Formats: sequence, structure tokens, C-alpha cells
Amino acid sequence: MPTAFLDDIRATLAQIEAEGLYKRERLIASPQSTRVQVAGREVINLCANNYLGLANHPALVEAATQAMQAHGFGMASVRFICGTHGLHRTLETRLAEYLGTEDSILFAACFDANGALFEPLLGPEDAVVSDALNHASIIDGIRLCKARRYRYANSDMSDLEAQLQAARDGGARHIMIATDGVFSMDGYLAKLPEIRALADQYGAALMVDDCHATGFMGPQGRGTPAHLGVRADILTGTLGKALGGALGGYIAGPQPVIDLLRQRARPYLFSNALPPAIVAAGIAALDLVEAADDLRAQLFDNAAYWRAGLSAAGFDLLEGEHPIIPVMLHDAHRAQAMAARLFELGIYVSGFFFPVVPRGKARIRTQMNAALTRADLDQALAAFTQAGHDTGVLS
Ligand SMILES: *Cc1c(COP(=O)(O)O)cnc(C)c1O
Repeated sequence: MPTAFLDDIRATLAQIEAEGLYKRERLIASPQSTRVQVAGREVINLCANNYLGLANHPALVEAATQAMQAHGFGMASVRFICGTHGLHRTLETRLAEYLGTEDSILFAACFDANGALFEPLLGPEDAVVSDALNHASIIDGIRLCKARRYRYANSDMSDLEAQLQAARDGGARHIMIATDGVFSMDGYLAKLPEIRALADQYGAALMVDDCHATGFMGPQGRGTPAHLGVRADILTGTLGKALGGALGGYIAGPQPVIDLLRQRARPYLFSNALPPAIVAAGIAALDLVEAADDLRAQLFDNAAYWRAGLSAAGFDLLEGEHPIIPVMLHDAHRAQAMAARLFELGIYVSGFFFPVVPRGKARIRTQMNAALTRADLDQALAAFTQAGHDTGVLS
């Protein structure tokens, strides 16, 4: 590569480092779990999206192993050429039944599902109205479509209405509202009842990305819309969080939507089919999750206990009911220092700072998990208190 080109890249890296924004990855030497082996020791993990503790569940390992033995390793094809196994259609049907939609379509990841969704459905005469804090993959998916784009301030319903009106005034043929079900940096739920009412008032379709809710929010864990008693027209989600934690994404919705996506969605047409082991484990995850009221109760019990403990210790938390519980530290260096001290004390958490959250809003995002015990949480609370004092976060 030309030296000047590489020099510019090195300068960018140095800038990231100087601002305290450089992310370093820790190497895990055990299965993903509430306690993991890192750097030769065991630490309590409070930053995985392993909400129901299924990431290393024996039933999923077994389903994946059996599927690999029976159906082989890879499909070596996109779905439409020769990559569709019966398992794919079973999982798509099961997801649609679970989510209460007519059908669903699998992708390699929800990032791809969100990248796939907008471009085939919306043309230049249409409009998409999107929450400002939507996940990067929604933002990128919207960038790829030709619809006119309107953005509303996070969960600001009067701004949403203003943007819908602007879309209407702009002559939009069809309007789609796009929102995360849960804003994952904050753990806030979208105001879906109000959003649905505005969607109906303006004749708009409602798309909800429910990655941080499917499997554990609402009845049978059917997600944020079910939790709030609202119908979403189109749902996107992941198998990489509560539903097993490996990978895979999907879009669920009305039959014509899914049919058109199968014809036109570029990440579907030009990217490989999910392997049988992953798909079979996804089906096993749904079997477990549909019957996992005990795990959901434990998850929310843990979240309440953890939140109350951190709050009593004097930490600045964001309010909420979700098992994402962010500890606000504001400054990126401080978030890094706190995470580093916590690691020394046997707690694995990650500092979040720009660009994943706005500058000045650095935090440690803790996430609860149904498999964490009271002993784990008490140990983690003691470590947080200690680290808070050691780093000057607590006085
Ligand atoms: C995690 C996440 C994604 C990406 O899901 P993957 O399957 O990991 O690609 C998309 N949207 C939201 C809201 C997420 O939290």
C-alpha cells in the first residue's frame, strides 16, 4: 500500500488512542457463561447479551452437534441456488409462529436483515421515518434505500409526528417508521403504543428491531411489542443474543413482504445460507424459550436486585425495567479506568464510549442474565463499590 495512505491510517489510530477511545479485545478461553476464563483467571461476565443463559446450553450444543453429524458442515450456496435445507424453512416457520407474523426470512445476522429490509420495499417516492438512536444496522439499511429519510429525536413523539407530517407534506406514497424495540445503549424501551397510534394516524407501516428483547420481554418472550400490547408490522431480530447467542438474523412480517425480500434482498441473494448446525440450534432455542417463564422470572429478579444494589452503592444509573443497566461515568477515560479496575477485581465489563455512545456519555453497560446467582451478584456489587472508590467515581 502507498506509504502516505498507511500514514494517514496510522494517524487516525493514534487519534483514537489519544482520545481514550481505543477498544482492546480480551481473549476468552472458556465457553461463554456467567463466569469465563480470561487471561488465566475466572471472572464474572456482566457484559454478554446472554440474557437467558443459553449461549452454552447443553440442548443447543446437542442440537447443533446432531445437525452437523446428520446434515454436514456448510451449504456452500446462497439460499436460492442450492442452499435451502428443510431446517431453514422449519426455523422460518417457527419464528413466524412465535412472533405472530405470516412468515419470516433468515439472514446471516440481524445486521444483514436490517441492511436488507428497506431497499426492496421503499422507492424514491416513499419515506422512512427513523429514530435518531436506532442501531447502526438500521441506519445503514436506510442509507442503502432510495426513500426520503426523516429522522426524529430519540423517543420524541412530537418530533415523530412532525416528521410524519413532513413526509406526508413531501408527498410520500408509503411511509415506514423504523425503531429499535429497546435502545441498547440505554436499556430504554421504545414508546410503541404512541408510535403505533401515530403510524395508524398517518397510514404508516411500523418496523421494530427487537434484538434486545426477543426471547425475554413480554409473554413467552415474544418481544417489546407483545410486552407493550402493540402490533408491529415488521420485526427484525437476531439469534445472536437471547436466542442462543451464536449468529443469524431474521425479518418477520406479512407474506408479501417476506416474498419480495426473498426475491430482492441483496444480503439474502448474494450471501451464503446459514449452516445446518446453527439453524437446528435456533429451533432448539425456540423450543426452550417458548417454555422459559422460569428463566425470564429469574432474569428480571436479577435485574431488580442488581439495579437496587448499584443504586444503594451510589452509582448514577439510567432508569428502566430492562436487564441492560448502564452505569453512567460520562468520561471515556474514566469508563476505561473503571472497567480496568473491575477486571482486576474479577468482574468483566466493558466501557462504552464514542462512537457507540455520544461523547460525554461514556458508561459501563452491565447486562443481567438468568444464570447469574445471588452470590455472583453480591461479589460483583462488592467489586463495583471497591472500584468506584478506587477510581474516584464514588466519593
Ligand atoms: C445486536 C443488534 C443487531 C445486530 O444483530 P447481529 O445478529 O449480531 O448482526 C441489530 N440491531 C440491534 C438493535 C442489535 O442490538
